[in-house]
Amino acid sequence: MNKIFDVVVIGGGGGGYPAALRIAHSGRSVLMIDEKGNLGGNCLFEGCVPSKAVREAAALAVKIRGAEYFGLDAEIELPHWDRIRSYKDRIQTYRYAQHRNEIEETALLTMVRGVGRFVSDHEIAVEDWDRETTDVVTGHDIIIATGSEVRSLSIPGAEYLWHSHHLFAWHEAVREMPLDIVILGGGYIGVETASMLSALGLHVTLLEMAPSILPGMDQDLVKVMAGHMTQRGVRIETGVRVEAVARVPGGQYRVTGRRVFGNRSAEWLTQQVFQAVGRVPSLPPDLGLEKAGVAYGPKGIMVDDHMRTNVPHIYAPGDVNGLSMLFHSAVRMSEIAAQEILRHGHSDDAFNPKEMPETVFADPEAMSVGMTADEARGAGIRVWEETRPMGVEAKAQIMGNTEGFFKMVISRQNGEIIGVQAVGIDAANLSSIAQVAVRLGLTPRDLGRMTFAHPTQFEVIDRLARSI
Ligand SMILES: Cc1cc2nc3c(=O)[nH]c(=O)nc-3n(C[C@H](O)[C@H](O)[C@H](O)COP(=O)(O)OP(=O)(O)OC[C@H]3O[C@@H](n4cnc5c(N)ncnc54)[C@H](O)[C@@H]3O)c2cc1C
Repeated sequence: MNKIFDVVVIGGGGGGYPAALRIAHSGRSVLMIDEKGNLGGNCLFEGCVPSKAVREAAALAVKIRGAEYFGLDAEIELPHWDRIRSYKDRIQTYRYAQHRNEIEETALLTMVRGVGRFVSDHEIAVEDWDRETTDVVTGHDIIIATGSEVRSLSIPGAEYLWHSHHLFAWHEAVREMPLDIVILGGGYIGVETASMLSALGLHVTLLEMAPSILPGMDQDLVKVMAGHMTQRGVRIETGVRVEAVARVPGGQYRVTGRRVFGNRSAEWLTQQVFQAVGRVPSLPPDLGLEKAGVAYGPKGIMVDDHMRTNVPHIYAPGDVNGLSMLFHSAVRMSEIAAQEILRHGHSDDAFNPKEMPETVFADPEAMSVGMTADEARGAGIRVWEETRPMGVEAKAQIMGNTEGFFKMVISRQNGEIIGVQAVGIDAANLSSIAQVAVRLGLTPRDLGRMTFAHPTQFEVIDRLARSI
């Protein structure tokens, strides 16, 4: 293997591969090292893609059960997890093959399956798991995109807990589903998982320590989400601090904890426990950040809005910097890092985490872009809110999915839309227009002059804008 590269990229996920491909296509030599030996990182291996595949199967099951609304008779047996699992694996396999082609078509990209560790600020020891060799290579620039890993609760019995790997990992997910499950953590991964497993017929209990699920999201949105999930049979308990999980005779688990208000003890008996209490940047001690002099804190590697670390030729896009732990955010950061390298530090592009769409692929869907009204007021910005129910649009009525709302948060200073939140049908898709509006500082008047196709749920946007 060549020992000198223009750029060395550690990690092949959304934070790493867009930069690697762009830089290699621009005529520079790139070495990318990834434990999976392919592109996609944890998003493809056990995150976004497989979880959304399972979610589609669950959503279809719900739709089939509701076929009568569409004038159809249809029945569905209790879903077979092993078949859904195969479908999920198939999508992952397909995408891995697609990524393999991308690697092969990129002449200046060398991909190694293995691990990269810093030896100095320009040198990386590359452990190649296929060749069973370790070589030290030099990179003129280096991108650290090691992503994130599951945050594990430090409680007795933590070793029993399932996490995203158990449900979604490529060819490694569990083969059998329990009849009931307790989910620890009401962030977006916990809420999505609760929603899909409940739709697949499991009895689901969702425990969250904060006073509400989806902490930090718009409270009106949370109310709709929690109300609908409860109606669909998910038991949601908030203000609960879980303290231990123990095995009990008969193969079940006893989850014990305390209710934050009143400090009363509580317990739950269940066949399985799934933890979704967050993710932490992947910075194992043997990565050798000290040898490179790269500064980091508990939230991850510190970067500026150009993805530069404190070491001028080292960049850290993606989950590893903790700024916005979402795949599309990682891709955006990766592109910014690539531009910065290609333009020798003179790129005018910059990352703003608040512009990134946050989505919740549950039933109902939800999204938030920019500031919520509470955040804006907390930051001293005078705003007003305009809301339109999702259910007044033809698309929602045709689909029999009429709950929820679409909301704009508008600055009183300049009339610009500084935040958008929605819950209900197609909310995740609507986040794309919301992102354009927030990023470009559009006003309701600008949006009101646009025309979105009929009958799509996008009409809720221009109609709300025109009504203001
Ligand atoms: C269950 C679940 C569902 C999710 N759903 C969504 C969603 O719907 N939408 C969304 O936007 N985001 C979602 N995410 C988040 C998304 O997966 C991450 O934001 C995204 O993967 C971040 O990309 P990354 O490249 O920064 O890190 P990662 O995807 O974590 O990639 C890092 C890669 O680096 C490798 N690596 C680490 N250390 C080394 C090393 N020393 N040497 C070599 N390789 C190394 C890792 O093995 C990994 O392949 C979800 C996550 C989970 C867990």
